[in-house]
Amino acid sequence: MIRIINGKPMIGITATLYDASCDYRVPRRYADSVEEAGGFPLLLPASNTPEETEGIMPLLDGLLIPGGPDVNPLLYGEEPRPALELTKTSNDLFEIHALKEARALHKPILCICRGMQVLNVAFGGTLYQDIPSQLPEALRHKQTPTDRADPTHSLEIEPGSWLSEAYGNTQIRVNSFHHQAIKQVAPGFSVSAKARDGIIEAIEIRGEHILGVQWHPEVMIPVHPEHLGLFRQLVEASRRLSVAGK
Ligand code: MN
Repeated sequence: MIRIINGKPMIGITATLYDASCDYRVPRRYADSVEEAGGFPLLLPASNTPEETEGIMPLLDGLLIPGGPDVNPLLYGEEPRPALELTKTSNDLFEIHALKEARALHKPILCICRGMQVLNVAFGGTLYQDIPSQLPEALRHKQTPTDRADPTHSLEIEPGSWLSEAYGNTQIRVNSFHHQAIKQVAPGFSVSAKARDGIIEAIEIRGEHILGVQWHPEVMIPVHPEHLGLFRQLVEASRRLSVAGK
């Protein structure tokens, strides 16, 4: 099936429902980055039923899971610690279902910040609920109020990974807006980048096009265009899949 819109692979982006403001929210840099990389962003509301999620997934060429609230720790077998922040279980379940459907259909997947954490939980991994209280020796991974496009810590990227291909480099600097991190990596995934304190900053499945990154490339692109590579890689993998008629 050819789904490409006006020459652009269609990349689904999950939208988070925030009850307090009655908003579905996708920060526009995610959609803009997909467009800058040559894709067509299609926003998916978290109100979809599981059947609707299954219905929409074959129509997409790729999937992007953006940042957002903490993942409910009950979903990875833990009780909530005091420093846990806002959770939204219905959103967790929607994104977990979307990820499983997309993977089953071999759709290329890119997950950013919370997205990587949901990706890890969806396939059986666990999280640190709060880095400062659980790993007090770790670096500062929440850089507010530092400018969002500013890189604040460095990364070591695994050679030969999807990630090293996207950046053409194994040493990069990234921004950091997370207080949670991956604890146990989901079975079948490998770690493709770590910060100097050992915090896992990226995971992937090399044999499939599935990547998760803990930083926010979408807000760095206007100042540090090398971060567009991740989006280009997603869009190009999605284009190959769609042209192949899958
Ligand atoms: Mn970080």
